[in-house]
Amino acid sequence: MAKPTLTLNGKVVEFEPGQTILQVAQAVGVEIPTLCYLKDATPTGACRICLVEVKGARTLVASCAMPAGNGMEIQTDSQAVHTSRRLNIELLLASGSHNCLTCEKNGDCKLQALAYRYGITDIRFAGQTQQYPKDESNPLIVRDFSRCILCGRCVQACNDLQVNRAIGYGYRGAASKIVTTGDRPYQESDCVFCGQCVEACPVGALTEKKAVGLARSWETKQVRTTCPYCGVGCQMWLHVKDGRVVKVTAVEDAQPNRGMLCVKGRFGYDFIHSPERLTTPLIKGEDGQHHPATWDQALDFVAKRLKEIKKKHGADAIAGVSCARSINEDSYNMQKLFRGVIGTNNIDHCART
Ligand code: SF4
Ligand code: SF4
Ligand code: SF4
Repeated sequence: MAKPTLTLNGKVVEFEPGQTILQVAQAVGVEIPTLCYLKDATPTGACRICLVEVKGARTLVASCAMPAGNGMEIQTDSQAVHTSRRLNIELLLASGSHNCLTCEKNGDCKLQALAYRYGITDIRFAGQTQQYPKDESNPLIVRDFSRCILCGRCVQACNDLQVNRAIGYGYRGAASKIVTTGDRPYQESDCVFCGQCVEACPVGALTEKKAVGLARSWETKQVRTTCPYCGVGCQMWLHVKDGRVVKVTAVEDAQPNRGMLCVKGRFGYDFIHSPERLTTPLIKGEDGQHHPATWDQALDFVAKRLKEIKKKHGADAIAGVSCARSINEDSYNMQKLFRGVIGTNNIDHCART
């Protein structure tokens, strides 16, 4: 059966039933700017930046929430669209306290980028903006709601993607704010500090506390790696300045984590530069102290002791517990070593404890 078609900026394109206008545009490489749209979450149409003109429609429509229809004629960058987007960006800027110089997100902010792209140099709308004290009460996330544009991406990231349901919209009208249950600090709420809300926030309202003041986005290079913590193998970016990891974010479209991380992967990187980190094996001497050794010395020592124990007490005097952080292949090799080489079935895995 022939696929439905629509006309996008004068060009006829096919689409899959159920796709939104935004998804159709993205599929054929037509860029429509967005702020609140979060992939894999239910569209909200909150920010009105992705507005497009659909022939015959009474108003401009939010392309993230509007299903594509057969025969639609759509303009993504007409004068009406441009004027409306510009106005909405101005209103968002006017609704908060946006001093980019003092903002941690300077250079990596979608609102700032849109303001520049749409040539906004003055805010025409003066008014009383809601001021919130910066919440720095927990060790991992800074919340600065004076910069919040109420796009809702953090709520969707928490509820739809991570399914933690720790935050939602609170209060009403100009006092609207993203809150935990009872508007308590994160550390007193259901928050598990996965940091997905921070990753989703397009502006400087939610930022990584440990990264404050360490680097502007243009000063870092991003190095892709695999999370060192467990066998899932989540894909992450290390943001590195002068050889130092300043923060960690998820790789958006990569398996298996598809842009998500847990608290360990996102925030547990202090060990990399810890002066207490072990950098060589240690062998306990007869003096009871641990002494640095090479890997060859350490492995020879372990093999010698295992052989001695087996000879004296039998193979079942030895047991192995492998690590839940290991990959499947390492766990397989561990049981092979114990069953096939040492000769015992005393092999287990710490995930069962
Ligand atoms: S949130 Fe964006 S626009 Fe607002 S101050 Fe920070 S960088 Fe500037
Ligand atoms: S850190 Fe995770 S659990 Fe906590 S509010 Fe953000 S997304 Fe929700
Ligand atoms: S905190 Fe960030 S992601 Fe959440 S609503 Fe405000 S601007 Fe959007």
